[in-house]
Amino acid sequence: MIVPRLIERKRDGERLEPQEIRELVLAYAKGQIPDYQMAAFLMAVYFRGFDRSEMNAMMEAMLESGRRLDLSRLPMTRTDKHSTGGVGDKTSLILAPLIASLGIAVPMMSGRGLGHTGGTLDKLESIPGFRTALTLSEAEKQVARIGCAMLSQTEEIVPADRKLYALRDATATVEVIPLIAASIMSKKLAEGLTGLVLDVKRGSGSFLPKLEDELELAKAMIDLGTAHGCPVVALLTAMDRPLGNACGNALEVAEAIAVLKGAGPPDLIEVTFALGAAMLVLGTVATTLEGAQVLMRDAISSGRALLKFEEIVAAQDGDAGVVRDPTRLPRARHQQNFVASRAGVVRTVEPRAIGYGIIALGGGRRNMEERIDPSVGFVITAKPGIHVTKGQTLATIHARSEADLAVGRSVLESAIVIADSAEPALPLVSHRVTARGVERLA
Ligand code: URA
Repeated sequence: MIVPRLIERKRDGERLEPQEIRELVLAYAKGQIPDYQMAAFLMAVYFRGFDRSEMNAMMEAMLESGRRLDLSRLPMTRTDKHSTGGVGDKTSLILAPLIASLGIAVPMMSGRGLGHTGGTLDKLESIPGFRTALTLSEAEKQVARIGCAMLSQTEEIVPADRKLYALRDATATVEVIPLIAASIMSKKLAEGLTGLVLDVKRGSGSFLPKLEDELELAKAMIDLGTAHGCPVVALLTAMDRPLGNACGNALEVAEAIAVLKGAGPPDLIEVTFALGAAMLVLGTVATTLEGAQVLMRDAISSGRALLKFEEIVAAQDGDAGVVRDPTRLPRARHQQNFVASRAGVVRTVEPRAIGYGIIALGGGRRNMEERIDPSVGFVITAKPGIHVTKGQTLATIHARSEADLAVGRSVLESAIVIADSAEPALPLVSHRVTARGVERLA
């Protein structure tokens, strides 16, 4: 294989053979191809795309780069949820314990922050001691014992996604349908699931702001799942504003814990419950979406879901005391309220600006090596469409220094626009996509 020739052919719009893609991905996973060549290849794919057979080859090679979880001996169904990426999107932190507490195994392999979006692994690691790099055998044993493990890609499990994900993050090559689909589905198929629910984000803060692209991404992932024996349901959910109020790693863990305790912002609860209901029906624990909602409410009010989160944190060496007492999470040294500069209607709370703002505060990565500060971010109570008065608190900035508070203020000044009127925001859950087709829900 001559890598510059492959880059050149893709750069010039040629279709590559599945075997060529397989060799490239496997060699990269083994460290036989330098990052600079792979980055150039990814940029060529960014501009020229992949057809379905190239995407399938990419996904299969990523899956083949490591081993898969074998949970086939477990008596229960195995269902997971994965999001295409958003800001303030902490539904995984709630769903993993919630659904596991209802008797479905949830082997959840997640990612780190990607582009302007946050990552479940970074959020979990804001819990002191929490270990996401589980071995295959640790993950299998933990799922068998407590019904859930929340883990990262490793040298052992989808190592190709581990490397490519970090490289795409650092080289602006994230927003490509076949690369997103291959990345997500390689992780999910490595989990040995009996069903998968996808949260495909819509709107200005998603990786693919156009509805036709979001639907195409959903269909591509459903086709990959179907071809590999895993039924997939996708819900399209709003990412034209952050989900919930907290944006930033430790802040989001605290908000997820609040939901597990029966509180939390209504938009976060609605999206989480829609995804959870789809998981419970797919996992055959509920026969209807309404019945699934009742089960979830009961798991939260009885404290079972919270207890399951505590068990997961303890099993993965985290400080389980955080679950009862979230003030044990890392807290930024400086907090400051951000207030409305005029009266009016909130027109935008722009997720992309907020996501990049968290990176600017130190809560996300600018390159592959950077360490992040889990404590920083924003808690934004303003939502598009609400009426505000001059001086009303819209958000709180959590920062490491006075200088960073100023950075946070300028981020919020550009992200939160107040006007005389506002367009309606996107419906929180707008479409359901399955192998049978697309259903409009709102
Ligand atoms: N989530 C992933 O796991 N991969 C992507 O490429 C985007 C979102």
